[in-house]
Amino acid sequence: MKNGRKIEDVCDFVVKPIIEALEEAERGKKISPWTKQWRDDGTANTLTGILARNGVSRRPYNGINWLILNMFPEYNSSDWFTLNQLKKLTGMDRPIPDGEFENAMSIVFWKMIDHRTERDSKGRPKKFPLAKTYLVWNRDQIPALPEPKPDVIPPDFDPKTEIDKYLTNLDLRGGVNLGGNRACYIPSQDAICLPLNSAFFNEHQREGTKAHEGIHATGAKHRLNRKMAKGWFDDEAYAYEELVAELGAAMTCAYLGMPLTELQHTSYIASWLKHLKDDPSFIMSAAAHANKAFNYLIGEHASLQSESKESLAYAA
Ligand SMILES: [Zn+2]
Repeated sequence: MKNGRKIEDVCDFVVKPIIEALEEAERGKKISPWTKQWRDDGTANTLTGILARNGVSRRPYNGINWLILNMFPEYNSSDWFTLNQLKKLTGMDRPIPDGEFENAMSIVFWKMIDHRTERDSKGRPKKFPLAKTYLVWNRDQIPALPEPKPDVIPPDFDPKTEIDKYLTNLDLRGGVNLGGNRACYIPSQDAICLPLNSAFFNEHQREGTKAHEGIHATGAKHRLNRKMAKGWFDDEAYAYEELVAELGAAMTCAYLGMPLTELQHTSYIASWLKHLKDDPSFIMSAAAHANKAFNYLIGEHASLQSESKESLAYAA
């Protein structure tokens, strides 16, 4: 615990609760680990647009770390700190109150390292991923922290209309087609189909659906060219793309301060569970792809400074 958790423990730490939550979802008890259901209380949220981030650099965490820090802990603050950062900020040797040390969350970063002996076809050292884990604590756990500086939310930021803007900015060849009873992205036409705004039961369902289809559209060849793992059957590839779309939509909704209230395709849960149980890196790869898609969708693909560029080493 002193120097972080072992990477295998982190896999357990992340993957086990996801498997358990998806099993509950399969039994119809819960929706999914990354969906949240609550009612809009009508008040404005001053933290809208803020994802889990490093409390010092204020850069958001990516991929699997987004999942770790957004899915499970129930804190009000988005700010997370390492022990060293807490020591510096508070000037204390032991800034973490008794009983909170063990409640740290583990985050993981990947670094690509040169292989000592193995070479690629061009004679360059082969690269392999090395994982390092860190413990972080939420601002809410540390009473000794000084008050944070207020966040500046752009004045024209309106979570209820942002997604329409993102979809327009995708510049879809076949456009966004409204009407009917289907929500889908059609790759051959590069077009999104959505029911009329008035057809949705509530605005969260509407925005979540738009985000989901927008994430699918980012995978097009002329955008992120998201490819499926070689050797996968078609249905497995579809299930993977659906997981990317679900996680990307969850990130988009969290960014907008809206709950993602339902899964678009619960029929894929069994396939996700099978893959997760076979290979814990499945969720890390999907989260990395989802993060890339989310950044593209919100238009930050060129400029977003993330806390660390977790490599896509685990991405197929
Ligand atoms: Zn879908």
